[in-house]
Amino acid sequence: MSQRIAVVGAGVIGLSVARSLAIKGANVTVFDKNLPGSGTSQISFAWVNANGKSPESYHQLNALAIEEHKQLQRESASLAPWLLETGTWEWAADAATLRQLEKRAKKLAALKYPFRQVDRDALLKNLPELQLDPRVTQAWHFYSECLIYPSLLIARLLADLREHAVETQINSEVIALNESDNAASLILANGTEWRGDSIVLATGRWSPELMKQLGWELAMTDASRADKTACSFLAHTNPLPIQLNSNIITPELNVRPDGGGRLMLQALDLDHHADPARPAHVDGMIGQEMLRRLRRLFCNTQGARIERIDVGQRSRPADGLPAMGYVTAAQRIYLMATHSGMTLAPLAGRLVADELITGARSDMLREFAPDRLLSPFNADNVSSVAAYLPAAQ
Ligand SMILES: Cc1cc2nc3c(=O)[nH]c(=O)nc-3n(C[C@H](O)[C@H](O)[C@H](O)COP(=O)(O)OP(=O)(O)OC[C@H]3O[C@@H](n4cnc5c(N)ncnc54)[C@H](O)[C@@H]3O)c2cc1C
Repeated sequence: MSQRIAVVGAGVIGLSVARSLAIKGANVTVFDKNLPGSGTSQISFAWVNANGKSPESYHQLNALAIEEHKQLQRESASLAPWLLETGTWEWAADAATLRQLEKRAKKLAALKYPFRQVDRDALLKNLPELQLDPRVTQAWHFYSECLIYPSLLIARLLADLREHAVETQINSEVIALNESDNAASLILANGTEWRGDSIVLATGRWSPELMKQLGWELAMTDASRADKTACSFLAHTNPLPIQLNSNIITPELNVRPDGGGRLMLQALDLDHHADPARPAHVDGMIGQEMLRRLRRLFCNTQGARIERIDVGQRSRPADGLPAMGYVTAAQRIYLMATHSGMTLAPLAGRLVADELITGARSDMLREFAPDRLLSPFNADNVSSVAAYLPAAQ
C-alpha cells in the first residue's frame, strides 16, 4: 500500500517535495495555513545559483540544483517558462571589491563552476543601456545561473500536484503534531485530525513554532525582527525601455528582469533599514535611493518609478545552511527549512522524497541534518494541544 504523507507548508519547498513524493506513488496531502506561495516564496529575488556558497557540500548541492531546475523546465517546455536561463553579470568598481570578486572567481574555477571573464566592451554589448562606471574594465559572466518567476514555478508545481491527485488544503493551519512507532498525526486549528505514515514540515520561517510543539528549540534567524540578515528590501519598477535579459550584481544595486519590462531591485547595504513591521513607502528614503542608483546605472530611466517595495523575510537556519532531516525519535516527522530555497526546491524535494520512501539518507544531505540546530525546549511551555493529541496508530 502507498505511504500516506502530509506536507505542511505550500511554499516552493513543500510543493516540490509533495510533487516528488506523489510521482513516487505516495498518497500526499498538503496543508497550508494560508495560500500556496504566500510565505517567503512570494517575495524573493529568486536567483538560482551556487555562487559564493560554502562549504563545498553546500556549493555542490546548489550547483546540482541548477541542473535540476533546467531539467524540470524542459519537461514542460510548452508552458509559461518560470525559469529564465539568463546567467548573471557581475563586476566591481573599487579595488577592494574587485579583489574579493577575483578571489571568489578563483575558488569557483577550482570547483569547476561555469563562468567566463569578459572585457568592458563585451559587457556593454550585452547590456546596451548600461552607463558603466569608468573604473570598470572587466566583468564576470556566470552563464549557467538562472532567475525564477516564483508564481509561475508555484503554478507549475500545483498543476503537477493536481495531475497526481494530491489534496491541497488551504487556510488549514496545523497546530499540533504527534507520532508513534508506526504512524504520525496532525491536528488543524479547526479541530480536524489527519493520520498517516509521516509528516514533512516545510513551514519555512515559521518552523520554530511547530518544532517547539515537538519539544525542540530550532535555531533560526528571527525574520519578524528588523535585521539585515533576516530581511531585505525588494523594489519593483514600472515597465522601462531597458533590454535587460539577465541578472546583474553591481557594486550598489542588484537588478533583475521582473516581467514586461519591469525590474526588481535589491541594494543589500540598505537592508539594515528593513523592518517587516514598517512597510517602506515608494517615495520614501529607500525608494528614492534605489531610483537614484538605477538612474546612475542605466540610460532610458527618465520615466522610472518604484511601484512597490516589499520587505522579504528570509527562512534562514541560524548558520545559513539547510536543515533537512528527521526531528523525532520514531523518524516520522521530517524538517525541511532552508534559505536559497528557490535554488534548492526541485532537487531538495526529490532527494527528501527518496529518503522518505526508501529510508536511505542521501549523501548530498548528510551534512545538513537539523540536529546541529536543535536544543530541548522547556517542556512546561509545550502547547497544551499536544497533551490531548491522541497517539497516532
Ligand atoms: C529577500 C529575499 C531574497 C531571496 N533571494 C533568493 C535567491 O536569490 N535565491 C534563492 O535560491 N533563494 C532566495 N531566497 C530564499 C527563498 O525565497 C526561500 O528559501 C524560499 O522561498 C523558502 O521557501 P519555503 O517553501 O521553505 O518557505 P515559504 O515560502 O515561507 O513556505 C512556508 C509555508 O508554510 C506555511 N505554514 C507555516 N506554518 C504553518 C502551519 N502551522 N500550518 C500550515 N501551514 C503553515 C506558510 O503559510 C507558507 O506558505 C530569498 C528570500 C528572501 C526573503
